[in-house]
Amino acid sequence: MSSTTTESSLPPRSRPVRVRIAPSPTGDPHVGTAYIALFNYVFARRHSGRFILRIEDTDRERSSASSERAILAALRWLGLDWDEGPDCGGPNGPYRQSERLPIYREHVDRLIASGRAYPCFCTRERLDALREQQRRDKVRQGYDGHCRGLDASEVAKRVAAQEPHVVRFATPDQGETVVRDGLRGELQFANVEIDDQVILKSDGFPTYHLANVVDDHLMQVTHVIRGEEWITSTPKHVLLYQAFGWECPQFYHLGLLRNADKSKLSKRKNPVSVFHYRDLGYLPATFLNFLGTLGFSLPDDQERFSLAEMIEGFDWARVSTGGPIFDQAKLDAFSADDLRALDDATWRELLRERVFSEERMTALIAAARPRISRLDDFVPYVSFFFGGEVDYAPVAEQFRLKGKRSCDEVLAILGAYVEELERDPAARAFTVESLEEFSRGFCQRHGWKPRELFTLLRVSVTGRTAAPSLFETLAVCGKDRVRLRLRAALAFLRGDGAF
Ligand code: GLU
Repeated sequence: MSSTTTESSLPPRSRPVRVRIAPSPTGDPHVGTAYIALFNYVFARRHSGRFILRIEDTDRERSSASSERAILAALRWLGLDWDEGPDCGGPNGPYRQSERLPIYREHVDRLIASGRAYPCFCTRERLDALREQQRRDKVRQGYDGHCRGLDASEVAKRVAAQEPHVVRFATPDQGETVVRDGLRGELQFANVEIDDQVILKSDGFPTYHLANVVDDHLMQVTHVIRGEEWITSTPKHVLLYQAFGWECPQFYHLGLLRNADKSKLSKRKNPVSVFHYRDLGYLPATFLNFLGTLGFSLPDDQERFSLAEMIEGFDWARVSTGGPIFDQAKLDAFSADDLRALDDATWRELLRERVFSEERMTALIAAARPRISRLDDFVPYVSFFFGGEVDYAPVAEQFRLKGKRSCDEVLAILGAYVEELERDPAARAFTVESLEEFSRGFCQRHGWKPRELFTLLRVSVTGRTAAPSLFETLAVCGKDRVRLRLRAALAFLRGDGAF
């Protein structure tokens, strides 16, 4: 393939601004998604453009309808309304990638016809052996182009015989691809470092790269504003735009949200679900302002601003790319100020909506009814359903399980529980039944007696030895609070509570 230098060029200034958020529905709505959505939304509104919501559900194993619903609900809670999307439609739909398969197929065929893509019949075994060999030879890992030179008639025969295959993009072997980033300037990538990426999987689904480029083009997206984790994908996208003969959108890669220790914000260390922050009782406006300050400031370094003020003052020159720290203490300080400013009527309304909702009261009454003798006992009895922190010191002894297990064993089993709870599709529903089924199966897999594990869970989540039925407790507390408490119990056991 000839040596080329390709560049992502700026879209014509005259085109109306169209931006998008393109989440993959593979879990809880992530605060990183909200952060990126905010910047897209603000930019769109600043320029009277359109903000599109596209669901990138090409990973069939990991995508779920419940996750999609949750993402929409989270964005709606924040008030980041979209103009086109899977729920409200629009001129460039469908807005769910799984409903656009014929479009991708047609585009892949176009690339094959122009010699820019080719079917690849390599088996998993061959690819594994290739990787192993490359590791031994200490050379760059990647596809070796084995199927690139196959004879056209052989390819046609094998495709007609329905031999399983993927389609790969034929990346130029030489030259460089230049990505122009509105925040980072020119980024150069040697083509030799870019693999012949798979663009169509053997199940007929496109990969992220192909679907993303085709959709951004067909949806006439002018500015791609996303997280910096996608920078290394961008040269692949630029090459695809070029192969189709399309103009690139303007790219902006925002800094990745980070934990206080600078590591990437992840659910291992911090709660990352938007719902967690909603359920802790921050106001959406406070949360948006906090997210806004992570990458943007107003000219006088004024940090407190409304969404309208952010839109009004938005300018890329005031956006920073340094890894912003997700500092909950700062969020708390913002929140304290905002709550202080509310009048009594609003407080009453918020408490009724967010703390003592009908739904929650119904669940708490069911939990308390069989166990308390006076109404006055109600608040102390259900207190662990509220508030974030639990004091483990008074119940530390319970973690020892009467000396039957070591601290390491307890740490390992609780750690595994948190991990598996996260991944298990049944447990994700977080109902009494699904939690019980998951937990009993977990005990079986790990060879633990249910009674022992259940004691650990009860103590971790409630800080008590006696509490309403365990699974009812977990279900009412909710996934985020349970996860937070289990994590807190693990921290306690590693430090003060070690035995
Ligand atoms: N589906 C990708 C995500 O989950 C989209 C990345 C992009 O904006 O291109 O974030």
